[in-house]
Amino acid sequence: MTKIFWVACPECNGKFYCQWHELRHKRIQLLCPYCGHRFLDEESPEITE
Ligand SMILES: [Zn+2]
Repeated sequence: MTKIFWVACPECNGKFYCQWHELRHKRIQLLCPYCGHRFLDEESPEITE
């Protein structure tokens, strides 16, 4: 089973999930599918893992 975590976009507050092993604590920018904003996981106002 692939581990995921949920984030919220700091720009539009849209929630989406990412692959935990690829993106969590990696300092790789996430791309919001709703508004196209790029941000780090640590910048998300809400993280559920
Ligand atoms: Zn967004």
